[in-house]
Amino acid sequence: MQRNKSYSNSNTLYLVATPIGNLKDMSPRALEVLSNADLIACEDTRNTSSLLLKFDIHKELVSLREHNEVSMSKHVIDLIKEGKKVCYVSDAGYPGISDPGKILVKLAREENLSVSVIPGSNALLTALVGSSLDSSHFYFHGFLNPTESKMIEELEELKTKKETLIFYESPHRIKKTLMTLYKVLGNRKISLARELTKLNEEYIEGSLEELSNIDENTLIGEMVLVVEGNNQNEEVDINKILERSKYLLKKNISLKDVADIVSYEFDLKKNYVYDLLIKEKDNL
Ligand code: SAM
Repeated sequence: MQRNKSYSNSNTLYLVATPIGNLKDMSPRALEVLSNADLIACEDTRNTSSLLLKFDIHKELVSLREHNEVSMSKHVIDLIKEGKKVCYVSDAGYPGISDPGKILVKLAREENLSVSVIPGSNALLTALVGSSLDSSHFYFHGFLNPTESKMIEELEELKTKKETLIFYESPHRIKKTLMTLYKVLGNRKISLARELTKLNEEYIEGSLEELSNIDENTLIGEMVLVVEGNNQNEEVDINKILERSKYLLKKNISLKDVADIVSYEFDLKKNYVYDLLIKEKDNL
């Protein structure tokens, strides 16, 4: 067991969240910590230097990105051990969330250094909170594999999850991803959040069927996909549903109304019961 107070050790690794679009989301605390740093490690020095320039912060920058993450993380940890104040920032949002940063934290913990996270913007939470989907339980997947067969494999594994699913995606793959989501997960509700915190921020909510048919030229900018979890109750006894439906149909109630009643009684989705009744029509 290891206990480590974030503010009792002068040898501290600072992870600073940065805006995902709107510079006004840079917190006073983030600016203070960055201003006090001896060195700022960042994903892309050009990107971070232009961000820091806007706040009149001038610091030595070193690049720590995916392809040198292990070696540079070790170097940064050595600098902190020597007593240097080092911050890490990724290109946007939180380091370590679909961005480098996790190796740094692991090494810092191994060396018993303090770790201090300066909170700020994040795309997945902003998209989830702004969507009408359930936010009490959710599963963040990050980017799906861009190869279609691998994407399908990943989605097959997620298909039974009851939690709201959250994905990051880039605009040039969005159409293909929406179509694959629809193909594998079925017609669930989705909220697509794009250009969050920017002037053109937009939430598009509908069914996966609707969104997979959307004109992709209207889906510009960075985006997050928030998809309804699997709401089907697998424990449900199909025979009981059919038995109850048969009884109601004998009373001359239409198939659609029977689906309404039965879905309510068994706490199931209307579409699920309706599709089941259509499939089993000959046995009813
Ligand atoms: N570290 C970041 C965070 O905490 O959210 C995520 C970085 S990840 C490399 C970039 C992805 O985050 C984008 O492809 C997009 O899915 C999402 N993203 C970042 N900024 C966004 C924004 N302003 N609006 C919508 N999605 C955004």
